[in-house]
Amino acid sequence: MLHSSNSYDAIVIGAGVAGLTAATVLAKRDLRTLVLERHNVPGGCASFYQRDGYRFDVGATLVGGFGARGVHRLLNALLDIDVSAEPIEPAMIVHLPGVAVVRYGDERWRAERMRAFGPAAEGFWQQQERIADLAWDLSTRFPALPQDPAGIVALASAVRPRHLPLLATLGRSVASIMPAEPSRALRTFVDAQLLITAQTDARRASLAYGCTALDLAREGTFHLRDGVSTLSMALARAFRRAGGTLRYLAAADEIVISRGRVAGVRLHDGTHFAAPKVVAAIPIQSALPLCRPLRLRLHAKVAALPQRYGAFTLYCGLRPGVVAADFATHHQVVASYDEALGEGNSVFISFSGAGALRRARNGGTAVTLSTHTDVARWERAYRDGRVGELRAAYTTRLLAALERVLPGAGAGREFCEAGDPHTFERFTGRSRGLVGGLPQTPATATLGALGHATPVAGLFLCGDTSFPGQSTVGASLSGYAAARACLW
Ligand SMILES: Cc1cc2nc3c(=O)[nH]c(=O)nc-3n(C[C@H](O)[C@H](O)[C@H](O)COP(=O)(O)OP(=O)(O)OC[C@H]3O[C@@H](n4cnc5c(N)ncnc54)[C@H](O)[C@@H]3O)c2cc1C
Repeated sequence: MLHSSNSYDAIVIGAGVAGLTAATVLAKRDLRTLVLERHNVPGGCASFYQRDGYRFDVGATLVGGFGARGVHRLLNALLDIDVSAEPIEPAMIVHLPGVAVVRYGDERWRAERMRAFGPAAEGFWQQQERIADLAWDLSTRFPALPQDPAGIVALASAVRPRHLPLLATLGRSVASIMPAEPSRALRTFVDAQLLITAQTDARRASLAYGCTALDLAREGTFHLRDGVSTLSMALARAFRRAGGTLRYLAAADEIVISRGRVAGVRLHDGTHFAAPKVVAAIPIQSALPLCRPLRLRLHAKVAALPQRYGAFTLYCGLRPGVVAADFATHHQVVASYDEALGEGNSVFISFSGAGALRRARNGGTAVTLSTHTDVARWERAYRDGRVGELRAAYTTRLLAALERVLPGAGAGREFCEAGDPHTFERFTGRSRGLVGGLPQTPATATLGALGHATPVAGLFLCGDTSFPGQSTVGASLSGYAAARACLW
């Protein structure tokens, strides 16, 4: 069959982890596939940037999914991708006011949680692990939402009788299995861990999703020596090897509809690419403006979504010798029990680690720090001309968290640059700078989530605002589900 040069079998908008996963699956199934990416590198929130001899992970720094039953490991094998991921132990250290809790992934976690939270919490941890085991087992069988024939078949072939107890978790929150009066340390620890994995706290986090989110250390966390962007770089290479076309600096401006179904994508400069299938691998808030029928059908639902978090980030370069070779890679710092989490009171800090020679010149260390922040606060600051003041205040809080984790870090710092929600909007196209996907509540997680299917024929969705949610693992799973539906 003859094709015009601008005509494809499928177009994927966005070269984040979700889009590249979907595109590589499609290209490997011999579909002429085009990926359109507005930036000049792949990866989106799991990408990198280079400055002054340092290479920083911009958002995602910690990866799961490379363990025995890990999604990245399974998908990489399927897509012929070789990514070397080294297990990290401990997964991270959580610094609560006055006490540090080490998140071991191995049997040491049992003694550590007993030391930190006492025997009263033991029933909670055991139940959390039982639920997580079932949910992991189901997730690595690649389920999808039963919204169309592809999703129904995927779900039916993933679910086994052993998964049925998960039905009892529907509609419930993580708090429903916690002690009635948890200690301040337990409540804050669980809330802080859920904030970075489920974008909400124990009272609101869906039980099944929250239990897996609390289980990341046990399931295995991994270090990619050149940074998390290794994953999207490897996906981009595999996509091209499979014959796919990847265009950078190509921002999709419109998903073109003809006779009620998808006909292609138009770029800002008017270039038109034709295809009968389009995968919008971008957040739902960024997809709506591109497609009128989608906007008409989903505007009210999307406007009501409870997502409000962006990220304030700091990228710091530390001189050689400041960080010891065996220093733990990831840390979460909660400064005070008396303030809400986020907004600098909960800071996630990741160090590039020993042997990461491509991450920092002369053997120094690239550090990424981030805190959840309400995007509305930054919109007001930009409007009122107070953004410099706000950036300075957040920078001070994040540097204090770094100093708590690594006393003396300030003296060894030779580079420091901040990012706020506006920065994420500018570089990743995420509407209002909303990142991290939707809060995973019983209403928005699992069966309540947005899925890969849309009301527009030929248009599919994936990414961290779609099922199953945030993280590189979640984005990969959603990309796989969208590609499977596209191929149906
Ligand atoms: C600060 C921060 C820390 C995080 N930490 C972790 C972590 O430690 N571990 C973890 O697993 N996850 C983490 N996450 C979440 C994780 O990074 C994301 O959930 C995941 O990378 C999302 O991938 P995605 O493909 O869905 O979307 P994105 O990464 O947003 O990718 C979308 C892509 O589409 C492009 N695009 C957008 N609009 C258009 C358009 N109109 N035309 C063409 N291209 C377009 C963007 O440029 C981007 O490349 C973190 C996120 C942030 C922000």
